[in-house]
Amino acid sequence: MSQKKISRRKLLKTAGLVTATGLLSSCGDSGTPKNPAKATSGISKTFDWKLVTTWPKNFPGLGTGAQRLADRIKKMSEGRLNIKLFAAGELVPAFESFDAVRENKAQMFHASPYYWINKNKSTPFFGAVPGGMIAQEHNAWINYGGGQELWDKLYSKFGLKSFMAGNSGTQMGGWFLKKINSNDDFKGLKMRIPGLAAEVLNRMGGTAVALPGGEIMPALQSGAIDATEWVGPWNDLAFGFYKITKFYYGPGIHEPSSVLECSINLESFNSLPDDLKTIVKVACEAENNRMLSEFTAANSDAQQKLIKEHNVEVLNFPKSVFKTMIEISNDVVAETASEGKLNKQIYESWSNFKNLARLRSPFAEQGFINLSS
Ligand code: CA
Repeated sequence: MSQKKISRRKLLKTAGLVTATGLLSSCGDSGTPKNPAKATSGISKTFDWKLVTTWPKNFPGLGTGAQRLADRIKKMSEGRLNIKLFAAGELVPAFESFDAVRENKAQMFHASPYYWINKNKSTPFFGAVPGGMIAQEHNAWINYGGGQELWDKLYSKFGLKSFMAGNSGTQMGGWFLKKINSNDDFKGLKMRIPGLAAEVLNRMGGTAVALPGGEIMPALQSGAIDATEWVGPWNDLAFGFYKITKFYYGPGIHEPSSVLECSINLESFNSLPDDLKTIVKVACEAENNRMLSEFTAANSDAQQKLIKEHNVEVLNFPKSVFKTMIEISNDVVAETASEGKLNKQIYESWSNFKNLARLRSPFAEQGFINLSS
């Protein structure tokens, strides 16, 4: 440390002024701003962004989580990054969110990565794939197992940058008009189920239908579909599926956890100064954790409400049916590796990470819950 700096600190300390670090960081020796990022990045510049979502307006957990993310970014940036949220259909239809952000009609979208399976077969790996990872494993893969780097590589092809920004936890298998007793009950079954799980259902003999959340209830009411998955007790209660059928199966094989993404137009993201980039990243990380807690708490309450107030039967799939679905899932998921070099890298990274984590599971949370309950 230079003699000049030592004497300056000493002076501040003895003068009993505001903390030395506060003063030194705001003003250099020359009296000009000392923080070069703040000095050159146009700190006073504000950004007005649009966030499109695939969720109905204010939908519990998913829609409200996206709104919380937008609100927190605005607050943390002291209004320098203002984000206006649009629910599904307000600016663009739900499933056009990806292209809207690619084309910079909006700068962000909040959605499930598996909605974009038609863009690339491997997008579901960053949200949920059948027979996949629970939230804790998935977060670890993205943050410490090379997942984020592969996600960046895949999405940069579309001019996007994604962060995890929410998780529903393990999802339910869904609502069925008739009870499921064997694999045969899937034959001819028309079910709303997205992502790679659609192919699993098709191989079980059913027909998968892709519908955004807001269109499920009318389809179930009209008989256009015989079954649907959506999320879990909290969200499914809100949609009122119990009014149509009382048979509610879980857990599903298709979303052992389901990560929501905040995806950003890459050029827009790169145009932000470093501190705003960090705010976006940290806000997404906070929402990823926050939403999972919210789902865990709310699902416990909602499940009891469905049983006690709406006479819903909450059931496990028969073991043999679950086993068949997992076996088919493993094939469907592995087949994505043949789509291309990056698809192969994604599949291998993901499966190696999962297999290693599962060697530990009997001695970690899974082992604890099994042995203590
Ligand atoms: Ca779902």
